[in-house]
Amino acid sequence: MKSLQNLRYQQNFRSLPNAFYQDTLPQGLDTPELVIFSKACAQLLHLDPASLTEKESLQMLSGQTLHDAWRPLAMRYFGHQFGYLNPELGDGRGVLLADVVTPKGEHWDLHLKGSGTTDFSRDGDGRAVLRSSIREFLCSEAMAALNVPTTRALSIVTSDTLVQREAIEKAAMLMRVAKTHIRFGHFEFAYHSKDQTLLNSLCDHVAQRHFPDIFGHAQQNETLFKRICEATGHLLATWQCLGFAHGVMNTDNMSIIGDTFDYGPYGFMERFKPSFICNGSDHQGRYAFDRQPAIGQWNLSVLAQAFSPIVEKKALNAGLLAYSETFNSCFIAGMRAKLGLQADSNNETDQALVMDTFKMLERCNFDYSNFFRQLSEINVDETLSQLRNDALDLKVFEAWQAKYKARLENETYSLRERSTQMKRCNPKYILRNYLAQNAIEKAQQGDYSEIKKLHQVLTKPFDEQPEHAAYAASAPEWATNQSVSCSS
Ligand code: AMP
Ligand code: MG
Repeated sequence: MKSLQNLRYQQNFRSLPNAFYQDTLPQGLDTPELVIFSKACAQLLHLDPASLTEKESLQMLSGQTLHDAWRPLAMRYFGHQFGYLNPELGDGRGVLLADVVTPKGEHWDLHLKGSGTTDFSRDGDGRAVLRSSIREFLCSEAMAALNVPTTRALSIVTSDTLVQREAIEKAAMLMRVAKTHIRFGHFEFAYHSKDQTLLNSLCDHVAQRHFPDIFGHAQQNETLFKRICEATGHLLATWQCLGFAHGVMNTDNMSIIGDTFDYGPYGFMERFKPSFICNGSDHQGRYAFDRQPAIGQWNLSVLAQAFSPIVEKKALNAGLLAYSETFNSCFIAGMRAKLGLQADSNNETDQALVMDTFKMLERCNFDYSNFFRQLSEINVDETLSQLRNDALDLKVFEAWQAKYKARLENETYSLRERSTQMKRCNPKYILRNYLAQNAIEKAQQGDYSEIKKLHQVLTKPFDEQPEHAAYAASAPEWATNQSVSCSS
């Protein structure tokens, strides 16, 4: 097992034309201190997790020293933010250091977030605060454990460097690990540059690295667009089944391979409320939970425009259609699994049952995740009668229950088997905002025990972990579905 000093590195992003980036050195933090690291993420890199606690590693994780093979750069990209094109984006507070090449030949980007100003910082200070770094760390690692496509987080380092937000806060750095940092916004930049060689080189790069089976084929670019649409459809369906709201689905935050990307004011839904807005700055509710699938489509239509000089309209429309088809099929499959429905059934009937379930959850004021987890218990009748006790609207609950029980009669597999399957997709532990907040407040006082404990619990979200049952409790009523400030 290796340390950061002796991993194998490449500079695969630099094979793109240099219009896509700006050489930029990170600005190190004062008196860095390691807050937490992810063993699971280290293992992806074939990195010895224990080595991360050594001084040499800390210097690298805090931007103080660079490996000889690192050639940091800030990426240039555009993006549609809240519906409007912003041509002045790019990495404003982070640098891409290199990609790690593992013994298996996998490539993982290392991106140091919070590393100081770049040419793209505009009025920002290029820093990230401890609070936002903790939120990204906990959520990206939790999402990976929930089997959601996502970028990863290796470590957080805090420091004595102070930055001004609403209050003065400590600056921190997060080492983000991802298969790619290429976003929809990179394609928008290439399109608006009016230089088709940029667009073609970006397509070739993404195809070669991430969709190698289509690289160099005659239909490469149109297939690439379709694959991106399908990956995005899969991602959105996964979010909707899980009750995850991203909060800032701007096109510069949309990963080209369909990873959950850029963890800001995200939120896991607690009490079921489709119009849940997790981002305190999203006054119009553009990124409300129930609008996410449509926003996915909107973002892909922006991407379609960027592809339009090199892919015909008909193929672009086919790609967009593939998005809806993938979303619909993954979503219904995901919801059927959550409800424990395996037997062949008319899709429309099951779709109607899913919609009824949503209406019932809202009317009865159920905690979204806990409802499905409870439903996963072996004894269905006993569970339903317990749920009935908690239902705010008995009539609505009973009407739903009758339909659900009738549907269950088609099922043939054993109750035990059913329960096991359901518990594999209905997590007991999700990153509730109040839990994150509690861990953040302790970390801000220099106590990292709570963030470590919470991280540990969230690495096994489907396991019972009875000793940690308190972490499965829904938020107190005053804290449910709270929105989060964007200032990070
Ligand atoms: P985000 O909302 O995190 O997706 O950021 C949107 C854009 O603002 C990106 O180009 C970021 O690099 C940039 N940005 C966010 N925070 C800062 C900051 N503190 N300093 C400089 N740029 C920032
Ligand atoms: Mg962003």
